[in-house]
Amino acid sequence: MFAKIIIDQDAKALDKVFEYRVPDEMSVQVGERVMVPFGSRNLQGFIVGLSEVCEYDESKVKEISSKIEDFAVIKKEMLELMFYMADKLHLKLASILRLFLPSEMRTDKVKELIVKTVTLAPNFQMPSQRAKKQLEVVEFLKENGEKKLSEMSEKFSYSTISAMVKSGILVTGEEQILRAPAFDKIKSEKRKLTPLQQRAVDTICENKTYLLHGVTGSGKTEVYMNLIERVLSRGKTALMLVPEISLTPQVLANFKARFGEDVALIHSGLSAGERFDEWKRIFFGQAKVVVGARSAIFTPLENLGIIIIDEEHEQSYVSESNPRYDTHMIAEFRRKYNDCTLVFGSATPSIESYAKAMDGEYTLVEMPVRVNGMEMPKIVVVDMLMEMRQGNNQIFSIPLIYELKDIIAEKKQAMIFINRRGFSSFQRCRQCGYVAKCSDCDVSLVYHRFENRLKCHYCGKRYKALDVCPSCGSRDIKQGAVGTERVVEELHKLFPDVRILRMDNDTTSKKNGHREILNEFRNTKPAILVGTQMIAKGHDFEDVLLVGIIDADQSLYQSDYRSIERTFQLITQVSGRAGRSSKQGKVILQTYSPKHYVYRYAVNYDYKGFFKKEINLRKVTNFPPYARIIRVLFSHEDEKIVAQECKVCYNKIKEIQNAYKDEFVYLDVMKAPLNKIKNKFRYQIMMRVKLAKADEIEKKVFESVDEKCKSSVFFEINPNNLS
Ligand code: ADP
Ligand code: ZN
Ligand code: ZN
Repeated sequence: MFAKIIIDQDAKALDKVFEYRVPDEMSVQVGERVMVPFGSRNLQGFIVGLSEVCEYDESKVKEISSKIEDFAVIKKEMLELMFYMADKLHLKLASILRLFLPSEMRTDKVKELIVKTVTLAPNFQMPSQRAKKQLEVVEFLKENGEKKLSEMSEKFSYSTISAMVKSGILVTGEEQILRAPAFDKIKSEKRKLTPLQQRAVDTICENKTYLLHGVTGSGKTEVYMNLIERVLSRGKTALMLVPEISLTPQVLANFKARFGEDVALIHSGLSAGERFDEWKRIFFGQAKVVVGARSAIFTPLENLGIIIIDEEHEQSYVSESNPRYDTHMIAEFRRKYNDCTLVFGSATPSIESYAKAMDGEYTLVEMPVRVNGMEMPKIVVVDMLMEMRQGNNQIFSIPLIYELKDIIAEKKQAMIFINRRGFSSFQRCRQCGYVAKCSDCDVSLVYHRFENRLKCHYCGKRYKALDVCPSCGSRDIKQGAVGTERVVEELHKLFPDVRILRMDNDTTSKKNGHREILNEFRNTKPAILVGTQMIAKGHDFEDVLLVGIIDADQSLYQSDYRSIERTFQLITQVSGRAGRSSKQGKVILQTYSPKHYVYRYAVNYDYKGFFKKEINLRKVTNFPPYARIIRVLFSHEDEKIVAQECKVCYNKIKEIQNAYKDEFVYLDVMKAPLNKIKNKFRYQIMMRVKLAKADEIEKKVFESVDEKCKSSVFFEINPNNLS
């Protein structure tokens, strides 16, 4: 017997299937991990096929050295997914397999948690009648079977037990403990569905893909839970994805409360051990519902009945590092493989997904009103140029301050959204114009007041803050655009007695940081929560009646084609945090371009109007979903090498363009907007091609990169981020 094996090494040269002989005494299955001799080393590999015949020169084929486990860690569905991804996304096989297993498993870094147990020995001799304690132990174990040693020593003395082990009455054993992630315990409230929710649950029942478009507060979570319950009652399993930042303690607790032991949680806050153990519970079928972030799409749940992707428009569903994949596509594969239901849910679907719903590829299900029947929060647009003309140079507009005072007087809560962490986006000398930049990256440094440091948000490097300009010696230093820290500081000045909390990457980096901030916010009134994206989604605080958006334009003027769509989504999502309970909420949106059409649609919660406008624009300008953008990004420490290699590739792509003249809308080569990150120079080739032959062209473009090229090369399709 011969096995086809993928070596677990992330190297282009090893990216193929190798053949090995299976030793006669070894029985193996497809999907198992084995050790194989490779050159002078012994490497880990995965069996992806078995055959009686050998395609390679039989005399040169080596033998598998040993097995790592005695079961297939890669299930059949995942093997097929691997080949599918390799074909569609041009990824290395080994790098795909790595997505399927917890990294702890590959590196053997995590120890299984084992506890000692005791139990009665088979055919044990009864202790003498005088040994009262020992008799009690025997009675106890007769009733209870095997027990943890730690539990036993709470009831009986350790010396009694060890004497009994010595005399052979008891035997010790081991039991593996699966570490369970922490979650807040709450009572599950099952609610009677509203007619709209009921209609959604009734509609979403076939084996196809649905787009659930429900406004914020329309009760999508309750719909998801009902769908999951139905699937479980039919003996199937459910996979529920939520963006990492909305995987809040509240969400996790809700699912635990509803589905108990059936739920496994996969998120970045888990320790390595917890993640590994949750994965095992899924793998061995103990967990029937998985709730997790993007990577959970690869969890080996069998017998899937439903896949739900909440906030489907979120960019984080596309992995932006290698290996790059889009969760939508993987979900679609798994839906077809399992013949199950797939639901994409959002209050602001991505333009691409909504277009698919319009074309009938997805079935549209709508929930246009809030559960509580409340009006959506009223959004007030404040023109910051006007504020300036009227003499207000502060961060906060007069209307926002006025509303904040109201909230505080009523002992309610407010959220202030500013999508920039730190104190200010840069420090610049007013005299000579010097700007502090990172030495390793082509970006200005962000000032963090609390640590009094400048930080690079790309590589994390820290620098001393400027008090004098290193170039001209002036002390006249200007701060750039405001960040969360600055907003908190200014709020303190205005409202010294009010509790002001901050939630961003800096305040949530320690374990449970997230949870502590949210819990404190929940229990403090009045209070103001200042935060980035992190506060925009998923939170459900009934006393939040006001949301302030400090710099709504920030996402608007980014250079990629999704920036307007993203701004619309952000405003709608952030606004959705207000007025979720018994009173209509209010939103103060501060902007320097109040006339921009995106605000007109956002203020009216007119998603459909916005979609029409946006999709037309994409059509006439030839942008996705009417065309495909392909970016090939080269990076290397030596600028000459990267420029040269990028050029060579560009010339090859020009030949492709010649062969497909009518298909190319655009092709160019250039320095990437961020020319250097972490000391690596970056060059890129950008193209836009029509859809008809996009697959064909994409494949050729992938093949046009020289395998021996020294730069690292990264392909992106319809990239979210063009920096
Ligand atoms: P969405 O995700 O659509 O923004 P949520 O799922 O967070 O909305 O629900 C909004 C609020 O409504 C939550 O507080 C939720 O507990 C509550 N809710 C949901 N369904 C019902 C229902 N059928 N009856 C009463 N309250 C509900
Ligand atoms: Zn200066
Ligand atoms: Zn840097």
